[in-house]
Amino acid sequence: MSKHILILGGGYGGLLSALTARQHLTAEEATITVVNRFPTHQIITELHRLAVGNLHEKAVALPLEKLLRGKDINLEIGTVETISADSKRVILSNGKSFEYDKLVVALGSETAFFGIPGLQEHSFTLKSVNDANRIREHVEARIEAYSQTKNKADATFVVGGGGLTGIELVGELADMLPGLCRSKGVDFNDVSLYCVEAAPSILMGFHPELIERATTSLQKRGVTFLTGVAITEMQESVVSLKDGSTIETSTLVWTGGVQGTPVVANCGIEVNRGRATVNEFMQSTSHPDVFLAGDCAVVFPAGAERPYPPTAQLAWQMGEVVGYNLFAALKGAPMDVFTPVFSGTLGSLGRKDGIGSIGGNQTRLKGLPATLMKEASNIRYLSHIHGLFALAY
Ligand code: NAD
Repeated sequence: MSKHILILGGGYGGLLSALTARQHLTAEEATITVVNRFPTHQIITELHRLAVGNLHEKAVALPLEKLLRGKDINLEIGTVETISADSKRVILSNGKSFEYDKLVVALGSETAFFGIPGLQEHSFTLKSVNDANRIREHVEARIEAYSQTKNKADATFVVGGGGLTGIELVGELADMLPGLCRSKGVDFNDVSLYCVEAAPSILMGFHPELIERATTSLQKRGVTFLTGVAITEMQESVVSLKDGSTIETSTLVWTGGVQGTPVVANCGIEVNRGRATVNEFMQSTSHPDVFLAGDCAVVFPAGAERPYPPTAQLAWQMGEVVGYNLFAALKGAPMDVFTPVFSGTLGSLGRKDGIGSIGGNQTRLKGLPATLMKEASNIRYLSHIHGLFALAY
């Protein structure tokens, strides 16, 4: 009898789980349903470009319906409200409910606000296409407003957090703002663009040579870095910093970190700080009929205290392992072990600059090679999912 595989999330982990499972299982063997809150698969590694209009929305929001067409994979657009791992039931906020034989939870992560007062209410985040569109429209409106009122807060932009998300965004803003200002008759010298980082340096964990490159490249284009100082509060148009200083701004984009989602933390499976614990096959440590892929899983390298970072490249790899293991679990075959392959980390510093490290800081890339490799890695991913898509015909 056909089994029901329910996949929650249509991001990297969920989509790759679905496509890989379908490669191995016929429609008679398993019905596959993907649930996603958006009708699109979003290329979140490119959101910083969408946030400044340096990319068309179509390039980062791929219709799931198209990606899954001809695959015998059901698509349900809806937000997961509750998962009950014990009763094997999932309820969506539109009231629909689903039962399953095997469940894949690939619901990603959400922005962590760390309880900082006012932050959630008064900041922008960069986790989805909608977020990126909101930032773009807001920034344009602030420069337009500044051209009329000369209110300094409108010409002041703050990015909170100097991890890769914050740095990639500040790089795009630095490249986009001069042109926007020109088009609105505003002197770019009136604009202040800050990146505030609590740690002693931006891009902690990167080789000092790459941090230096990122810092000088962005400073030259007008970015002011405030490092070693945490954001402690955000009021409507005032950011407070730990050293007692304040910045008046109409725009704070918060990129200070990510955390697990409550729907996963509360679903009855074993979790560690809100992210699901898994065995080497990416199965829940408490519920073997539940598999995990992407940021909502916490995976520790053998003997290490810190888990692997929540990145798109790992979510993709987890999805493929999970897809195969769904087949193996249903057929009683040996499952694959999740063994991450790190192809490197690449970060853009705006349109024409970038940094990258390959082989754990062994090979360091700066400038055009990093930019091109980042572009190539995006194309590689897109051709991979389209390649899987093409297999349907
Ligand atoms: P992050 O956790 O890597 O960085 C957040 C930064 O915010 C940290 O440096 C932290 O010190 C800082 N911060 C926290 N609280 C603060 C405060 N109160 N005030 C000021 N600064 C504060 O988060 P991220 O940048 O969103 O990245 C999340 C994951 O995604 C990481 O693993 C990252 O490597 C990955 N990522 C990869 C890429 C890429 O490969 N190009 C791009 C974006 C994100």
